[in-house]
Amino acid sequence: MTQWRNWSGLESATPSDVLVPATTDEVAAAVTDAAERRTTVKMVGTGHSFTSISAPEGVMLRPDSLTGIVEIDRDAMTVTALAGTPLHVLNTELARLGLSLHNMGDIHEQTLAGATSTGTHGTGGLKASLSAQVSALEMVIGDGTVVHASATENPDVLAAARLGLGALGILTRLTFDVEPLGVLLAHEQPMLWDEALARYDEFVAESHHCDMYWFPHTDRMQVKRNYRQDLTRDEAEPLPRFKAWLDDDFLANTAFGAINAIGNRAPSLVPRFNELSGRLLSERSYSDIPYKVFTSPRRVVFREMEYALPREAGLSALREVRALIEASDWRISFPVEIRMTPADDLTLGTSTGRESIYLAFHVNQRTDHTAYFGGVEEILRAHDGRPHWGKVHTRTAADLAPVYPRWQEFLDLRDRLDPQRVFTNSYLRRVLGD
Ligand SMILES: Cc1cc2nc3c(=O)[nH]c(=O)nc-3n(C[C@H](O)[C@H](O)[C@H](O)COP(=O)(O)OP(=O)(O)OC[C@H]3O[C@@H](n4cnc5c(N)ncnc54)[C@H](O)[C@@H]3O)c2cc1C
Repeated sequence: MTQWRNWSGLESATPSDVLVPATTDEVAAAVTDAAERRTTVKMVGTGHSFTSISAPEGVMLRPDSLTGIVEIDRDAMTVTALAGTPLHVLNTELARLGLSLHNMGDIHEQTLAGATSTGTHGTGGLKASLSAQVSALEMVIGDGTVVHASATENPDVLAAARLGLGALGILTRLTFDVEPLGVLLAHEQPMLWDEALARYDEFVAESHHCDMYWFPHTDRMQVKRNYRQDLTRDEAEPLPRFKAWLDDDFLANTAFGAINAIGNRAPSLVPRFNELSGRLLSERSYSDIPYKVFTSPRRVVFREMEYALPREAGLSALREVRALIEASDWRISFPVEIRMTPADDLTLGTSTGRESIYLAFHVNQRTDHTAYFGGVEEILRAHDGRPHWGKVHTRTAADLAPVYPRWQEFLDLRDRLDPQRVFTNSYLRRVLGD
């Protein structure tokens, strides 16, 4: 019997059958068969969601054979890939072709369909989520038929299925807008809390991508800003190989993992470790092609909750969170991440219709997150926060509906595309209501 388990180890499931479709026709046959047998079918990605959003209850479709780039259109500046393609495969292939995505999150292990289906996002830019960069798609819907969607064909399906939570169909192809491969200048700078918060608007305005980390129990922050450069790949000045390994792999993973393990056994040491980590960070600058700046390896396994807040509420909420942590006896060893995204026009996007500040909270994979995430979630909910669909949260359909202006439109489309709920699971029943 095959067991499905997610990356953080928080969620697991035992599907009734496992199939590895290689074509749209094979996906369609699997869906038709599941619908006839009155069971459910779910394609999983790489399991990087912290929630049970991809937990299969009936038939599990694995993405492993649905991979590869199928079309490059240099006039339209789009690339079409099979939906199970890992993001790192797309990134390296695009770079080879002199092309790049506009923006992305901080890892690139996920599948294209998995990442877009939960609204995976980076920070800043003209578009921050991968979903917002999708301009067309192909999807098998609940009765096994194949639907195509773009700005001119089924635009309502495009708006919703770019971030469809796996609830509308099985995506088989995704078309992304791309741009010429450029170079990003990365500048990272330690800063104290008061200065970083006071200058936040300035950082967002003068850089293209701004990301900040606060070390709980301290006054220390790390401010990362990226600037688009008019340079070719050959003119970039990446970190020397050893320095890149030392900072981004050894210190960020091996040493951080060891500190975390000690902090787990002796929580009273966490504030001192955080102070030390904040002090050890130094200012550095380098430049590289976008995916090498945006992404880095993550080998310390953790649990995460992330919320999108209206931009004007983001920093007040962060201040309230700091006060809550300081008044508690929690010992939080992971930095809190602060990102920012422009508004987008997805049906169920965490940034739909509003510029947003994202606050992300992490604990070690073996740490009970419930008190910390639960306490913080109350603050974020009070500021009209929208939880990341792929990260831990406790929200249900009844209290999510009021924060999504196009909520009913998504439910109506789901009724049309999957009336029999062939794609459902317990997570979708909780967040969508049935
Ligand atoms: C270390 C780490 C770093 C992360 N960094 C970021 C970040 O920087 N920014 C951010 O926003 N998120 C981040 N995430 C969250 C992550 O990007 C999302 O949870 C993403 O959904 C994971 O993609 P996946 O391929 O693992 O999909 P899964 O988690 O396996 O599945 C996600 C959803 O996609 C659906 N799905 C998969 N394939 C298909 C298909 N073909 N058709 C329809 N539905 C499908 C699944 O059924 C499920 O509903 C991070 C997660 C981890 C563990």
